[in-house]
Formats: sequence, structure tokens, C-alpha cells
Amino acid sequence: MMPESCSMPVRATKRGDERTPLSGERDVLICGASFAGLAVARELAGSGADVLIVDRYEIGERQTSACGIPTEWLQRLGLLAAERQRFDTLVMHTPHGTARYQLPWTFSTFDYRELCQLLWRGCDATFETAKVNGRGSEGNGDGQIAVDTDRGTISAPLVVDALGWRRMLAGGDGYQPPDAPLSRGLEVHPGGESEDLAIWIDRKYVPAGYGWSFPARDELRIGIGSFDPRFHVKDTTVELTQDLGKEPNEYQGNWIPHKLRRATEGGVFFVGDSAGHCLPLSAEGIRTALYFGMALGRELRGVVEGRQSRADAETAYASFHDTHEWKFRWMLRVQKLIPRVPPRVLAPLIRLMARKRFVDWSFTHYLKIAPPEYAGSQWAAGSADDQNGPGQEQGDAEDPLGREGRLLQAEKA
Ligand SMILES: Cc1cc2nc3c(=O)[nH]c(=O)nc-3n(C[C@H](O)[C@H](O)[C@H](O)COP(=O)(O)OP(=O)(O)OC[C@H]3O[C@@H](n4cnc5c(N)ncnc54)[C@H](O)[C@@H]3O)c2cc1C
Repeated sequence: MMPESCSMPVRATKRGDERTPLSGERDVLICGASFAGLAVARELAGSGADVLIVDRYEIGERQTSACGIPTEWLQRLGLLAAERQRFDTLVMHTPHGTARYQLPWTFSTFDYRELCQLLWRGCDATFETAKVNGRGSEGNGDGQIAVDTDRGTISAPLVVDALGWRRMLAGGDGYQPPDAPLSRGLEVHPGGESEDLAIWIDRKYVPAGYGWSFPARDELRIGIGSFDPRFHVKDTTVELTQDLGKEPNEYQGNWIPHKLRRATEGGVFFVGDSAGHCLPLSAEGIRTALYFGMALGRELRGVVEGRQSRADAETAYASFHDTHEWKFRWMLRVQKLIPRVPPRVLAPLIRLMARKRFVDWSFTHYLKIAPPEYAGSQWAAGSADDQNGPGQEQGDAEDPLGREGRLLQAEKA
């Protein structure tokens, strides 16, 4: 169930006779071709494995986010060509005043289709459009996991669920809004320009949550996110848009998990929103989907290259995921606290928090939850010259840490 009625983009996905039967066995089956799924697939490129990635839409066809990310993640992953606009300040609006935070790192908006296509260019997997229905009936105990799709049953010993919050390949646990720990988000994309990356913490728009305007060169991505899944965000998305002098169009929305879930279950690996990897409070889930997607891809690569078993990969990936649990728990605590702060206290508090030392400290720690260094610089190298935007430093020529170092660094962070 979508949170609000949304206008649908034109589908490029194959229909009718073009949807030929699809079945058989693969080395790796990745379900979901958005941030998390593509990040896993890219880590497997060159491994020699037969990797199939399936999605109900064509790659990049259906955007479900404002597409904002710390710039360094784009740079390190060789994705700067998809960048639309870059910001070094964040404007915080409350009913009693506005504060401008000078960020210690820059944040960018990007084009979803272009970014997905760039990620896909780095993969050597096969892609098919297919709707995943769930787990198929298991075979003869040979370690193959069967996945049922609208085009047939596909099996693989390594299966990834990167399908988003529904976590289709897990045992049904009744995890449904409005009772599950899910936020809801809705946004519109009117044309227009602005220099300000802006947030509204204002109960007139949402009792617990925030509104945003993320400019992306020639459009504004304006939306409302509610931590309370029972609060309907459509009316106030329209209100905020009109308050900014724009008319709402192109509605897009989704549920956003704000709690970690198990990293593996029944032999399947979960990543991105399906594992609850979206950060509470900020609802930032793209960089974490890429980050955990890379971590998972590296473990799966170890399996297909014969360096470890699936069980080893399950243990390693689950423990990597678990080391982040306390950070997600803290973010959730703050998410629950903010709506309780009286509005009159909020404005001076937000202004106090705009002090450079506090902003540097808090935003640096926030970035370290999924640090860009984890990506290394293998993708940035070679294309750095034309990718460096104004004031952007070039990536290192080589990865100075190596895989183990990156794992260690991420765990320490
Ligand atoms: C309005 C809104 C704005 C947001 N803005 C931001 C932002 O600016 N920055 C940020 O970091 N995060 C943002 N988020 C959160 C972010 O969108 C998610 O955390 C992120 O998309 C998770 O990536 P993912 O790859 O795990 O899942 P998704 O991006 O949800 O991808 C899941 C994929 O699985 C496919 N799929 C789903 N079900 C099936 C099925 N049954 N069969 C086949 N395929 C299927 C989908 O088509 C999709 O391609 C926003 C969320 C919302 C709702």
C-alpha cells in the first residue's frame, strides 16, 4: 500500500508478450535494482559469477526519493556525473526563526535515472524486469534458494533482498504500517531554482517529522516526512509547496523504515530498506543502502571466488550490520525526542546548535555512520578530473586502506 495516491511515471518496463518466461539457476540472484541492489551487483563485477538482478521496473525508471547524498559518496563511487546541485549550508526553519548551518562537508542532489545507469555501467550482471512474489518452494536441499516471480521461479545459492521495506523474501512477520516502525514520506517536484537546501521543523506541517525543499538545478523536491505512520502527509505537502509559491505535481512517496531488521534470514541476505538501513531522524537511506550494499557485495564475492562459504558470509555480514545497531538506536532516540521539545524552546535550540563547533562535531559524527572512505577510491580514480565539481578535492589515486582496513575503519566509526 502506498501512503498517498501518486501520479505514475510512464513505464518503460516490458509488458504482455515481451514478458517471456524466466527461470533456471544462477550463482547470485539480486532482487531489487535500486541503490542497494546495484551496489551489491557492482561489487561482484569481474568475479566471473553468473549474477542476475531483477526489478519490476527498468533500471532507474521509478524514483522514490529526493535523491540527496553527501557529495563525497558520489565522488568516491564515480557518480558525480549524476549530480544536479551542491550545498555547503543547511537552512533550518522553525515557526519562531531560521538558522543557517555551515556544513563541514557538502551535500548534493542527483538525477536518479542517471545515477542508476552509472551504477549499472559498472556491473557485468544480467538484468530482467520481473515482479518478485516471494520465496518459492525449496528444492532438494542442495542449498539453492528459490524465488517466485511473475515470469517463473529462479534459484540461486546466494539470494539478496534489496526490494525495499516490504522485505518480500523474509517469512511473513506482519510488519505493516501503521503498526510497524515505519515513517512515511511524500514529495512533489515543481520546476524552479533555489540556492537553499532547507528543512522545516514546524508542527503546522507535521507533528513529528520535518518538511524539506531539496533544489536540483531546475526543479525543487519539496516534501514532508512523518515519523508517525498514522499522520497523512499529502495535505501538508501541498501546503508547504504552496507556501513556497509552487504548485504540487508528480507526487511520489513511500514508507521509510526507521529501525534495523535482521541482516540475514533463511539463507537470504537483506540490504537497504529491507534491512532497515535507512537512518532514523534524517530518513537518509541512499548512502547507507550503498554502504551496506558494498559490504554485502564484498562478502558475496568471497563466496563466489571460493574464499569462504555462504555461512561465513552470513556471519560476517550480520556482524558488520550489528556493529551499527547502537548508532541507529541513538538516532531513533533523538527522532523520538524532537517532537517532545516545546516549539518555543525549539527555535533557540536550533540556533544554539548552529554554532560552528557543534555543527562540525555533530555532522562529522553523523557522516561517520556510513563514512565515504569505506567506498575507497577505485571508482573515483581515472575519471576524477571531469568529475570534480567546484571546490571538490580529487580522490586518492589508489585505495589506501584495502578491504580489511575499510571494514575496521567503518566498525571503529
Ligand atoms: C519521499 C522520500 C524522499 C526521500 N529522500 C531521500 C533523500 O533525499 N536521501 C536519502 O538518502 N534517502 C531518501 N529517502 C529514503 C530512500 O529513498 C531509501 O532509503 C532508499 O531508496 C533505499 O534504497 P533501496 O535500494 O534499499 O530501496 P528502494 O530504493 O526502495 O528500491 C527497491 C527496489 O525494489 C523494487 N521492487 C520493490 N518491490 C518489488 C517486487 N515485488 N518485485 C520486483 N521489484 C521490486 C523497486 O522497484 C525498487 O527498484 C527518501 C524516501 C522517501 C519516501
